[in-house]
Amino acid sequence: MFRLDGKRILVTAAAAGIGKAAAELAAEFGGKVLATDLNLDAVQELRDAVSKTERLDVTDTEAVQELVEKEGPFDGIVNAAGVVVHGTLDETDPSDWKRSFLVNVDSIYFVLRSAVPAMVENGGGSVVNIASAAGSLKAFPSRFAYGATKAAVIGMTKSVASDYVAKGIRCNAVCPGTVDTPSLRQRIVDFGENIGDYEEARKFFVERQPMGRLGTAEEIAALVVYLLSDASAYTTGQTHVVDGGILA
Ligand code: NAD
Repeated sequence: MFRLDGKRILVTAAAAGIGKAAAELAAEFGGKVLATDLNLDAVQELRDAVSKTERLDVTDTEAVQELVEKEGPFDGIVNAAGVVVHGTLDETDPSDWKRSFLVNVDSIYFVLRSAVPAMVENGGGSVVNIASAAGSLKAFPSRFAYGATKAAVIGMTKSVASDYVAKGIRCNAVCPGTVDTPSLRQRIVDFGENIGDYEEARKFFVERQPMGRLGTAEEIAALVVYLLSDASAYTTGQTHVVDGGILA
């Protein structure tokens, strides 16, 4: 029941980090995974691990619609695309605010609006949205726009779960803490440059984790695969936190 044999699964932002780990593990568990990313070269590196790779910019509504029509219906969708914009309210300019919502929120709306009707017709499926521990569950410093977007992801998740529960669609949010991915490594470098000390910057990110270490993308992927599988058939509309104890 934890297997994904025969299930067609779309993963966005699958070339790196959590999306990549989720695509690889879903395929390992038998899923027919379509791994997509903005970065075609990088996502193509997964070609031997998954069923198919495609370039997809999730902010491009037409491209999303086209891909879903060509490749759907799906039994599972993992919405992993997201950007982190650093800043407090007064440090966040309108363009950063809009970009955050476009990549983190609008994209999920585009994907689900394109894919869910066919999923319903096909008998249902499971949607997993990658939200964050930062947002409506907890405020993190200097994550004003990011936290707002991830709160919106949880709102969308609950809305879809509730509206489509009788139509065979489950929709859950996974809320990671601090996970060692390329974008996190870049944030540590940026913060290190800001304070003039890379090691101090890394310490800052690690020390906010009660387990004293960063999470791994594989640890997040394990929960994603569970939520895609029939093992979680009675679970919908929830925020599933994997954060090394931050919210304990
Ligand atoms: P990452 O930032 O390391 O990789 C992101 C991938 O997204 C890249 O391959 C990039 O090419 C792709 N991408 C960017 N814009 C895109 C677009 N418009 N269309 C398609 N693909 C696009 O990944 P990550 O850190 O694993 O983050 C994945 C998700 O997990 C995000 O939603 C992020 O907010 C969330 N998250 C991450 C952490 C963390 O600590 N890393 C914590 C909580 C939540």
